[in-house]
Amino acid sequence: MSAIEACRTEALGGHVAGCAKCGHSHIAYNSCKNRHCPKCQGPAARDWMPARAEDLLPVEYFHAVFTLPAEIAQIAYWIKKALYGRLFKASAETVMTISADPKRLGARVGVTSVLHTWGSALTHHPHMRLATFELIRRYLVHVLPDGFHRIRHYGLLACSTRKANIAKIRALLCVQHPEHAVVPEPVAEIIPLTLREPCPCCGGPMRIIEIFRRGQKPISRSPPRQQAA
Ligand SMILES: [Zn+2]
Ligand SMILES: [Zn+2]
Repeated sequence: MSAIEACRTEALGGHVAGCAKCGHSHIAYNSCKNRHCPKCQGPAARDWMPARAEDLLPVEYFHAVFTLPAEIAQIAYWIKKALYGRLFKASAETVMTISADPKRLGARVGVTSVLHTWGSALTHHPHMRLATFELIRRYLVHVLPDGFHRIRHYGLLACSTRKANIAKIRALLCVQHPEHAVVPEPVAEIIPLTLREPCPCCGGPMRIIEIFRRGQKPISRSPPRQQAA
């Protein structure tokens, strides 16, 4: 929690970016890069989307949801790694076994599994907010063990053979590798302003004019970068 609380504040340091054309400047604080941080997941998702779009094939994709019974989900509070690991394995094996059945599809398939620990009770039932301790407790329930992968690939999409399999499928389907994959526009409020982005005032190039360390305040009198509401 401490890393997330400090994310994009003076506690983690940062830099001041200045426009080479109009003189506009703003402070950009460093991010915590914690995979559970809501502020940092936007850029991670932005990088993940083009990578997955690269692998898209001109075939039909299906979305299947496997949900743990409430009684078993309760156990996950104590044995997240073991239980979620088994959920990944059981759901992928179910899809691949049924697909391989000659009476059904009779084919090898690929699976990309994403673990969601947020239920509809939290996402679709907004409260006028909770007591601080209860809010933190509910949040920590969804923090995964160190090193646990929330997204996994199986079958034809297993990491070790994915590129070769996709290339082979494209050859069999006689389709080219997409030169320019269509990627949905990222949501504006979660995009951090970096030097790759131009000046928000005039479109000129932005450069670092000052770097400040953890816990320090910038000397330049610039406002923090405006985040969209
Ligand atoms: Zn400018
Ligand atoms: Zn963060």
